[in-house]
Amino acid sequence: MSESLEFPCRLHIAGGWVNAASGRTLSILNPADHGEVASVPCGGADEASAAVAAATQALPGWRATPAPARGDCLRRLHDLLIAHREPLASLLTLEQGKPLPQARAEVDYAASFYLWYAEEARRICGFTIPHREAGKTAMVEYQPVGVIAAITPWNFPLAMGAKKIAAALAAGCTAVWKPSEETPLMALATAWLAARAGLPAGVLNVVFGDAAAIGERWMEEAAVLALSFTGSTRTGLLLLRQAAATLKRVQLELGGNAPFIVLEDADLDLASEDFMKLKFLVSGQVCVTANRLLVQRRIEEEFTHRLTERLRALRIGPGLEEGVEVGPLINEAGVKKVESLVEDACRSGARLLYSADLPPALDRSCFYPPTLLAGVNQNQRIAREEIFGPVVAMQAFASEEEALTRANDTEYGLAAYVYSRDVERATELARRIEAGIVGVNDPRPLRAEVPFGGIKMSGFGREGGREGLMEFLECRVIGVRRAPRAK
Ligand code: NAP
Repeated sequence: MSESLEFPCRLHIAGGWVNAASGRTLSILNPADHGEVASVPCGGADEASAAVAAATQALPGWRATPAPARGDCLRRLHDLLIAHREPLASLLTLEQGKPLPQARAEVDYAASFYLWYAEEARRICGFTIPHREAGKTAMVEYQPVGVIAAITPWNFPLAMGAKKIAAALAAGCTAVWKPSEETPLMALATAWLAARAGLPAGVLNVVFGDAAAIGERWMEEAAVLALSFTGSTRTGLLLLRQAAATLKRVQLELGGNAPFIVLEDADLDLASEDFMKLKFLVSGQVCVTANRLLVQRRIEEEFTHRLTERLRALRIGPGLEEGVEVGPLINEAGVKKVESLVEDACRSGARLLYSADLPPALDRSCFYPPTLLAGVNQNQRIAREEIFGPVVAMQAFASEEEALTRANDTEYGLAAYVYSRDVERATELARRIEAGIVGVNDPRPLRAEVPFGGIKMSGFGREGGREGLMEFLECRVIGVRRAPRAK
């Protein structure tokens, strides 16, 4: 049974639902037609500070709550997310644009983090180390870091928050969360459901609006002890510099440029099907998407044929429409960026093999047609920058070594994919790719149980798994001497 969502469209601070002191508001627009979905307050530095004060006040109570009780609260939040799957998914599609089935999958994915960390909370255990001197012991304990700041992007507004908030709350931290101004409603829905799950006031606070002012204030505040950021490398670098002044613990999940390598012995049906699933998820606006398709030359023609067939069958439209697989891009700037990358690639030698006809009723400023480019080379912008759109940028390679060199020829190191019927061969290649996660014949290796994160300019730190919890725990040692004092 699905329940309704009735959260106030306001900032969430200290358990209350508040407007911005400035009185300014933001319109949340449906990316499919630019219609207004909601009007929300535009917060700034004052609200950012108020949120930190609330999280600081709530910290002693929450960190003293036994870990299993914190876990029970997260489990109830998981259950409420699942019970509200339908209204959450519809609202997610309205504010973000992704097709409804993908929105439902995101609700389930987000909920899975609350369940996983509900269970992990019970397993925050220390240990003791015997000392070489009799009567002395070192007790190693894991303590919550304190107040943490989470900043998330618009492509997975529910799940990106869930990865951070679930782990932080399980650890005993309290949080201030800034979702993107494009998609703040999922964060508000989370906070509303969390309160219904029994989360005490002030443990989770949500502020958004003037991103630069909020971010700067949080990075200045000494009470904020850690930052967990997901977004572009540009913003991540700025926050890292700001966080240095108060020496915060920083975790950065940044941009990617994943290669999808199809070796000549791959199962081409499987590889083309999986490629489509990955590439067209959220219309290509995903950090781990296949940004570069590398196909071994001997199978290029056959693979291109299969791909084109699949591209022709894609249904494009507003995400709430039945059967739609490719929705709009997040905003007009997103469409313009993709246009410029494709134009640049075509001007410098790439071949346009396919471009879908958009249904006439669609607003062209919101949608970009699924496109297939061949003959892309590594020096083109389209191979070096994140496309963040439904464009396949294909290059052919002769040997496995050449594929590896090209795969690693990027400043990013987030995800990669290798397809081959020879799993040993593909796994060996995967080991040599510079990326935090590599899928071997698997387009979606991510799960709540799996530590995920990047290397190189894709960031550092991990989300998911045991490692995701450790980001929010400090190791403390208490040395105890029990031996009587020598007379
Ligand atoms: P973005 O511009 O860096 O924004 C990300 C978040 O940072 C948003 O909440 C944004 O707020 C905020 N922000 C922007 N400027 C800020 C500032 N000066 N101070 C503090 N916060 C600031 O990135 P995006 O374009 O929204 O998201 C797409 C990027 O995220 C891509 O590069 C993608 O690869 C990356 N991403 C990475 C992962 C991963 O796990 N590695 C996952 C998803 C996305 P406003 O939106 O309100 O401006």
